[in-house]
This record gives sequence, structure tokens and C-alpha cells, in this order.
Amino acid sequence: MTSEAILQLEALRAEALACTACRLAEGRTHVVFGDGSPEADIVFVGEAPGQREDEQGLPFVGPSGRLLDQLLGEIGVERADVYIANVVKCRPPKNRDPRPDEIDACKGYLREQLRLIDPSVVVTLGNFSTKLLLRTELGITRMRGTAYEWWGRYLVPTFHPAAALRGPAQVLEDMRYDLRLVRDAVDGNLAPAPVTEDPAPSDEPLDDPTQLDLFRG
Ligand code: URA
Repeated sequence: MTSEAILQLEALRAEALACTACRLAEGRTHVVFGDGSPEADIVFVGEAPGQREDEQGLPFVGPSGRLLDQLLGEIGVERADVYIANVVKCRPPKNRDPRPDEIDACKGYLREQLRLIDPSVVVTLGNFSTKLLLRTELGITRMRGTAYEWWGRYLVPTFHPAAALRGPAQVLEDMRYDLRLVRDAVDGNLAPAPVTEDPAPSDEPLDDPTQLDLFRG
């Protein structure tokens, strides 16, 4: 990353910290912009901050974050080497799902974060980030297990760590499988699979807010 890009990322953070583009601004303690190395080869994209994240202004600092750290360790990666962001930067009340208009209002920040950091692998954690980035209505269970080609890089969808914490042991095993794909992708030992739906950007207006698309609007 160039020093210019680092400055741009900091300017983007400053912009996000003052953002009032959606109703989530009203209830937040902190904006959780993202954290990690701006030089990261791997960017993780979660869903939305929870209570701990809202209190501290940092992503994945609660139980899900501890599991994520453990899984990273298993593939020989430290948290300080990656970058972690979320689809929405402010905590939804009572941890409800982010709404389409909130995602739409916030997605420009994520788009810019990915453009500036320019990682070789993006890992989407759970349904929200996977659907947004891969422009699919298919759920995470269908999409995971594959490293996709995405804008000249890899995209590896996997479960959200919260699903592994509350779900059957198989969810954790599936996450381990997916993170091995991440390891292989970083090491250049993998041929990415094409996505079935073309994720090319489009100028069409966002008429159906359920059709979320990082590159529209
Ligand atoms: N869950 C998320 O999706 N993001 C966080 O930052 C924390 C929990």
C-alpha cells in the first residue's frame, strides 16, 4: 500500500466516525470502522458490530473474535497481519440484522476499504457479507467450501464465527476447511473458481433493496 493510500484510508476512517447516513448512528457508542494492517494480504468482512465492539470501537473483540483468532492461529496467521471490517460500521439495536437500507448507506466504506487495502484474499464471514460481495441470494451453506475469483483476487466465504459458537461441531470443521483454502490462496496454491453470477458493476439503480450489491449505488 502506498503512503497515499494509507492517508486515504485514514481520511475514510475520519469520515466514517462522523457518519450519520442511517438510523444506526443514533444508538451507537462508537463507529467500528475496521482494524488491522493496511498492508494486509487477507481482509475479513463480518456483519455488524456487537455490544463489545460498539463499546470499544474495534471489530471482533467478543467471543466471535476469540474464535476467529484461534482459527487464524491454526493457519499460522496473526490478527495483526490481517485487516477486519464489517458490512455495517455501527451496532444495530439489540444486535438485530442490519437492514437493506443500512447496508446500502454503509457499503461505500467497505468498497473503499477493499480498494485501498487491495488484499489478495477476501474472507466473508456469514450471510450478509457473502451475499453483498458475491451478489448472490444463495446462503452461506451453499456458497462456502470454495475460493471464488473476485475482482482479480480470491474470495473465500465461510460461516460467521458466532454460528460455530452456537452450532454443531461440523460448522467449526467447515470453517477450518475454508481457512485452509485461505492459506492455500495466500500461498498461491489454488486455482480460483469462477462465480456463477457475473459480479460486474452495473449502473442500474438499486430498485430492489434486497438485491444488495457492493458496486451499485
Ligand atoms: N460480529 C460481527 O459480524 N462483527 C463484529 O465485529 C463482531 C461480531
